[in-house]
Amino acid sequence: MNILIKDKILLKNAKVFFKNKIQKRSILIKNGYIIDIFLRKTSLDEKLEEYFSIDCSDFLITPSLIDGHVHTRNPGFEYKENVDSFVECCVNGGILDVIAMGNTSPRPETIENFQEIEKILTNKIVKIHQVANITLYKNGVQTLTNFEQLKKKTSFFSDDGAPLIENNVMKSAIKMAKKHNIFLLLHEENRKKSDESCYYNNKFLKKNGIGTLKDSYEWKMIERDILLNKNIDCKMHFQHLSTAKSLNIIENGKKFLKNLSCEVTFNHLALNNKIINNTLGIYKVNPPIPTYYGQKKLLNGVKKNLINIIVSDHAPHTKEEKECHFSKAMYGITSCELLFPVIYSIIYLKKKIPLENLIKKITIEPFKLFFDLEHNISLGKIAKISVFDIKLYKKVTAENLYSKGKNTLFLNKYLTGWCKFIIFKDKIITPKKKQK
Ligand SMILES: [Zn+2]
Repeated sequence: MNILIKDKILLKNAKVFFKNKIQKRSILIKNGYIIDIFLRKTSLDEKLEEYFSIDCSDFLITPSLIDGHVHTRNPGFEYKENVDSFVECCVNGGILDVIAMGNTSPRPETIENFQEIEKILTNKIVKIHQVANITLYKNGVQTLTNFEQLKKKTSFFSDDGAPLIENNVMKSAIKMAKKHNIFLLLHEENRKKSDESCYYNNKFLKKNGIGTLKDSYEWKMIERDILLNKNIDCKMHFQHLSTAKSLNIIENGKKFLKNLSCEVTFNHLALNNKIINNTLGIYKVNPPIPTYYGQKKLLNGVKKNLINIIVSDHAPHTKEEKECHFSKAMYGITSCELLFPVIYSIIYLKKKIPLENLIKKITIEPFKLFFDLEHNISLGKIAKISVFDIKLYKKVTAENLYSKGKNTLFLNKYLTGWCKFIIFKDKIITPKKKQK
């Protein structure tokens, strides 16, 4: 990335997400702190000509983004993504914080592994919050990891990629999560290993005799876990929802559980499975792309604030792993750098979900939920700001993605809302220039 250090920065005439509304404002940053947010003139006794001034009339400014669900692929899968490409990709997306899942090699299932992974993922600009695993396999038996030790390193525990099948293991995980006050981030999937279906029903799949999944694939496990948590109320977070019924069950669960939360990916909000018209693995993601009805309900869940946060589930793969028959393909879609452009261009402009509502779910709300921190643009705060160009429409191409993975369903689509730069304290940060 490129970093320009300036102790005095003026962001002029922007649209700023300020006090939960989008308002025309200018922002003064001095020695890394926001010292004024004003409409016409600063009330401070500052000489503005001394400031490094940036005209932001075409730009939207938000608190820096946090992506609550990514796969860094490090260590172990550097051929899909390395730390450098991942960090550049975050910077290109206006993201300064991510929560990184634990299906790496080795897995963060012991304190030794965790520390090793942490060293690899250390970055001074993008903060990678690594999760620890909930379970480990010992002699073929699934047992809990050592929560007591691992909680010294993290408050997030997840086996994302695989569900906790055994009721007893889940029950103990809930009790331990409550005892140690940590989050269980749950990938809910209820199906037999032998079941090869990987999409919800659509006309093309039906016509071609390709087996499809029922929505109980997801909600059955959610229902079980809410019931198991009923009298305990540990911090339980459901990852990447994809069906209407899952949402109904969570809505009901939230009536008696205070610590229940959930997420949806931007892909599951922006797309539905009517787009699947061939047998290529590019559409293969876990959970599947929702049906038209499911997508409608998910969008409504965001609107109603039933869904707490929006994430990317950044899952880069190689060309060979995705551009093959779906039965052979790997699960997952990249890339977190498209989080804001897709939210802005499709979920806000086309699907008409209020922009303020969407911005909150990738900034303020995840910070509040996961860290109990206020992350907003206000006076006296350290500058941690992302600036997006909302005038420029640019085509998504393999070349302009910073992720090594190109497995997105938005290739060749024109999007707006590209991150122009990030301000972190006194640093103006842009991704490395691409070589032509
Ligand atoms: Zn998952």
